[in-house]
Amino acid sequence: MKRIGVLALQGGFAEHMQKLRQISSVEAVLVKKREELDGLDGLILPGGESTAMGRLLRGEKLIDILRKKIRGGLPVWGTCAGMILLAGDIEGQKETYLDVMHIRVRRNAYGRQTESFSSDSPCPSVDKGIHRLIFIRAPYITGTAASVDILLKLDGHIVAAKEGTMLATSFHPELTDDLWFHQYFAEQIQHSPSVLT
Ligand code: GLN
Repeated sequence: MKRIGVLALQGGFAEHMQKLRQISSVEAVLVKKREELDGLDGLILPGGESTAMGRLLRGEKLIDILRKKIRGGLPVWGTCAGMILLAGDIEGQKETYLDVMHIRVRRNAYGRQTESFSSDSPCPSVDKGIHRLIFIRAPYITGTAASVDILLKLDGHIVAAKEGTMLATSFHPELTDDLWFHQYFAEQIQHSPSVLT
């Protein structure tokens, strides 16, 4: 049984918990405090508001230990605001948060006119299905280092990427009916070597 944490400081953590509970090989736990990071095999950073989550991560003294664990190999998946937390470069702002993934992100990249939308798309790098992708004031990735694999582009913009044991999606698989991306994350964890820290 793999233990997957969901960061529960702010945002859409409950929906991720619900998805994880449907995967039999996984035990899902909420993470609000430092101690709750111990013994995890993976961690999901949910959508929400990256500035608020960043502030809470610092306030709870979680940011340095989390960065260390991710750099030490703790598999992590950031959705939407979670992608922004992972990014090493956030357009238009000096401040970064975890600064672990070599991606440049543009916050609220789709602008005010299309704040939220969905798209039915295949994602062949993950599986053979067509999936509904939901975007809510979403960021997308505007630059990647060579170490980053692009998992999905939509209309020319990178909306899913993987770097080693780190995953980032602009969209919200926790808000749709199928389990495809949660299952993909769980599989990545099965195959990743044990966490070093
Ligand atoms: N716009 C939010 C931010 O910049 C992200 C939106 C989301 O996570 N749904 O943090």
